[in-house]
Amino acid sequence: MRNYTKHYINGEWVESTGSETMDVINPATEEVTGRISAGTKEDLNKAVQAAREAFPSFSSTSVAYRVELLENIAKEYEKRKDDLIEVMTEELGSPVALTENVHYNMGLQHFKQAAQQLRDFEFTEQRGDTLIQKLPVGVAGLITPWNFPTNQTSTKLASAFAAGSTVVLKPAELTPYAAVLLAEIFEEAGVPKGVFNLINGTGETIGNSISSHPDIDFVSFTGSGGVGQKITENAAKDIKKVSLELGGKSPLVILDDADVKKAAKTAVANVVMNTGQVCTAATRTLVPKSMHDDFIEAVKEVLPQFPVGDPYGEGNFMGPLVAQKQWDRVQSYIEKGIEEGATLVTGGQGKPDGLEAGYYVKLTVFTNVTNDMVIAQDEIFGPVMSVITYDDIDEAIDIANDTVYGLAGYVVGEDKDALRKVATSIRAGQITVNDGDTDFSAPFGGFKQSGNGREWGDYGIDEYLEPRAIMGLPV
Ligand code: NAD
Repeated sequence: MRNYTKHYINGEWVESTGSETMDVINPATEEVTGRISAGTKEDLNKAVQAAREAFPSFSSTSVAYRVELLENIAKEYEKRKDDLIEVMTEELGSPVALTENVHYNMGLQHFKQAAQQLRDFEFTEQRGDTLIQKLPVGVAGLITPWNFPTNQTSTKLASAFAAGSTVVLKPAELTPYAAVLLAEIFEEAGVPKGVFNLINGTGETIGNSISSHPDIDFVSFTGSGGVGQKITENAAKDIKKVSLELGGKSPLVILDDADVKKAAKTAVANVVMNTGQVCTAATRTLVPKSMHDDFIEAVKEVLPQFPVGDPYGEGNFMGPLVAQKQWDRVQSYIEKGIEEGATLVTGGQGKPDGLEAGYYVKLTVFTNVTNDMVIAQDEIFGPVMSVITYDDIDEAIDIANDTVYGLAGYVVGEDKDALRKVATSIRAGQITVNDGDTDFSAPFGGFKQSGNGREWGDYGIDEYLEPRAIMGLPV
């Protein structure tokens, strides 16, 4: 049992002022693996005070100092590789290979990337008589979800440290362990007291207190749209700066000259990664009408390459969903799809054979989906693909953009002009062409209801800075 009931405030592990705790459950076994404190407002206030007091000194550190700090963090993070993989596999239920290649690695990339980008980052600019300075925003409140425990936290933390801002982090209560390890990593790496503070607790108490706290200058949130709205409403009272990374219902457009087998594999992989619990998941697959039957056959052929099962089982690609609540949610969407008249190609409701314990779901593919169906419009957050057919590229683009979201988009095919046309017509923050590699220096974030603000690389650092223009200053 992991007894992680202390908060990390001003460089020390301290008891909560309250006595309530929350159990942490392993989604693959449904067993309690540990507990954390349900922090109180008083705990949060102490953390904010520590971050506020540390700000003047940390915000005036040199760029060289912060580059070295980020490099030290990356080194310490690498030393804790086995521990990070162990806790994330346990709290999230992700297959070990995925935990290592994606969860562990993304966290590391953000610290390395921030160090690299910081070296050449322009904090000041002289434009004629005008001096423009970019100053650390102040105390940042970070609220993160459970689907990528170290990615979501590290991208915010790396950017904040690079900018010279101090932070209070409230990780998701379903996956709190990785953040405890991060606190230990930061301590080893020499992050000064008060620069990083960790408070565990509920969204209702700690999340709400962060978004309404008068001494927090900026809130960076990743999670659901509804909570994003509440945070924005709370923050509006003090005109607090807010950045939101919310959901998506991203399209994957398959062009008519695409290799159908390759396209099917790409399409399935982009739906089922992390058991579909990915905000950029390509959950709407847009297929030329003429290719439809071949595509469905190709999907059936590639399915065995994505086995579901025990996170420690050899070769398993999908683990369970994170919690019973998410399992219920996915089941109700599958039911909705059937009710709406979509055709089930594979999967469906219930648990996969032999996986009764754990929040396992079946990889589910629907076809004959129209874009107005609920399963084509709502973010399901599970491994559920909706196949929608189109007649020509213009129609594909219209369907792709017919969503309240705009986080990601994908296009697969050969013709360069068609690839460019689709890629540059999708109103979304990140577009991937033909399995292009993830670029951690590129901005990440959403159009429309997928959020505002950007993370990753230099755009991410900018979020934790406030520009100041000084005009007429004698040089
Ligand atoms: P959520 O938005 O409820 O939780 C995310 C974080 O916000 C958690 O740390 C939570 O404690 C906190 N929170 C909850 N209520 C809050 C409040 N009133 N004020 C401030 N913080 C609060 O997300 P969830 O319940 O974990 O997941 C539900 C849905 O959200 C998913 O099914 C999915 O659609 C979406 N989601 C999106 C992402 C993403 O990366 N964009 C990640 C996770 C979940």
